[in-house]
Amino acid sequence: MTPIVQVADLRKRYGEIEAVRGISFFVEPGEVFGLLGPNGAGKTTTVEILEGLRKADGGSATVAGVDVFADPSGVKRRIGVQLQASAFPDNLTARETVRFFAACYDLDVDELALLRLVELDERAGQPQAKLSGGQRQRLSIATALVNQPQVLFLDEPTTGLDPQARHNLWALIRSIQARGTTVFLTTHYLDEAEILCDRVAIMDQGNIVALDPPRKLIDDLLARGFTKPVLQQKANLEDVFLALTGHELREG
Ligand code: ATP
Repeated sequence: MTPIVQVADLRKRYGEIEAVRGISFFVEPGEVFGLLGPNGAGKTTTVEILEGLRKADGGSATVAGVDVFADPSGVKRRIGVQLQASAFPDNLTARETVRFFAACYDLDVDELALLRLVELDERAGQPQAKLSGGQRQRLSIATALVNQPQVLFLDEPTTGLDPQARHNLWALIRSIQARGTTVFLTTHYLDEAEILCDRVAIMDQGNIVALDPPRKLIDDLLARGFTKPVLQQKANLEDVFLALTGHELREG
């Protein structure tokens, strides 16, 4: 299968700082791909280059068959980028917000169908400022889907959400993947990457230091003789919270 994202020897420098030091990787169509790494690793720089928002200094990149350097506008038409919901006008309803983004692409979309996909159709008439944090994140994903993107970029999608809202968002990301959309995710949360991602690339100081399915990374570590110094708990406080409050959508 032809990769949907292909990156070869990608480089970016800000003065003295080598933010991205010649990384190469590919993303298969239909996978949830995670880019992980500590602060300053070069994740945002990499993603923004792939989104056609930032210029690279060297290497090559294609997204959905489009050369990112030669045709950044072509890339933008084929991808969805989740913006921070706080950037949306407060007074627009959920439905109007989706319509507004569709108008930016000069598209006529079925707003309710998109809101249904993110389980917000019952909140269509509500001003977005009245939605909960998790609902706003889902609305921002709906807006990123207006142009039926081949690749959906999600940057730290669950930061600041409570455990239930995080689990709901994971279910949504899976359902978007099930519709055939490739998801490119950056996250600080390793549990999120382990649960959601088919493969993860771990970035550190501008380099990719590992790239594999999460299970394989763990097995490889164990094969190298790694043992955890403390016994693994069978449940944690998050499990208690979920068990007590249920897995149902209970926001807002
Ligand atoms: P975070 O998780 O904190 O967002 P990151 O992995 O996304 O980090 P980048 O934001 O890509 O990392 O930053 C990589 C390096 O490049 C850092 O040292 C950062 O300070 C530097 N950097 C990023 N953007 C700029 C810029 N516009 N000008 C100068 N240096 C920058």
